[in-house]
Amino acid sequence: MIVCFNNQLLELSKVQISPFDRGFLFADGVYETIRTYNGKLFKIDAHLKRLKKSLNEIQIKYEGIAGLEKIIYQLAEVNNLTGKDFLVYIQITRGVSFPRKHSFPSLDEQPTIFISVSKLDENTVDQQKGVKVILHEDLRWLRCDIKSVSLLPAVLANQKAIESKAAEAILCRNDLITEGSHTNIFGINEGKVVTAPKSNLILAGITRDIVIDLCIKLKIKVEEEFIKLNELTKYEEFFITSATKEIYPVVQIDERIIGSGKPGVITKNLQNAFKEFTAVS
Ligand code: PMP
Repeated sequence: MIVCFNNQLLELSKVQISPFDRGFLFADGVYETIRTYNGKLFKIDAHLKRLKKSLNEIQIKYEGIAGLEKIIYQLAEVNNLTGKDFLVYIQITRGVSFPRKHSFPSLDEQPTIFISVSKLDENTVDQQKGVKVILHEDLRWLRCDIKSVSLLPAVLANQKAIESKAAEAILCRNDLITEGSHTNIFGINEGKVVTAPKSNLILAGITRDIVIDLCIKLKIKVEEEFIKLNELTKYEEFFITSATKEIYPVVQIDERIIGSGKPGVITKNLQNAFKEFTAVS
């Protein structure tokens, strides 16, 4: 596998990352995951804009955003993925600083950039049949709008989900449902699609934006409002979204079966519209 490390294409085994890299010491960095459809990077501008926002928010200076698209296609080529569906992972940390100290190193310090591409295997069974999710306390910090690599609360919540034979942990901050550990969540109440508003409490998912646009196009009512924990039973359908999952219907939350236990009608309509949208993008 060839990866890109600090602007060089290298065999993975040749990459050397210092233990004094602040990504390793402090999780002081941000990331993006992007996928392709038919070999073309999907919503690349939106992903790069979000990456830039994350970098700005934590004051990492990185001048290479404009060159990333070219590097990714080069990486795909050397990994024999040209024209295929693949997943891109980009991580940028504040770089190496010694001795270890919390405050930023001098501003001349170079960030560390790592990019990998890998074949994408879609889980069409989960897309068709839907998944179980669990509810879990949202233990993350108050800047969930930054796509930070500091993901421990998300890791622990998702692990709990997997141990409960569920696909995802849905996070609750007091009585508000915010999002999943690595997905956004939508509920459907009397035909109206509801999802948490953009704020510091969620990551503004690119898939979330597309789904909202599709609702408007299909004349399905949509509202950016928090789903309340104590009102969960009002909702007849739920689904979760992310770049890799697209739209997974949620058919069970903890022990409660949603609707008939099968993907709901509006969820399926949105899934179809999403597939059509990606086919022509
Ligand atoms: N929320 C969180 C916390 C995530 O990690 C992700 C995955 N990046 C999402 C939502 C979904 O975002 P996207 O649709 O851009 O993949």
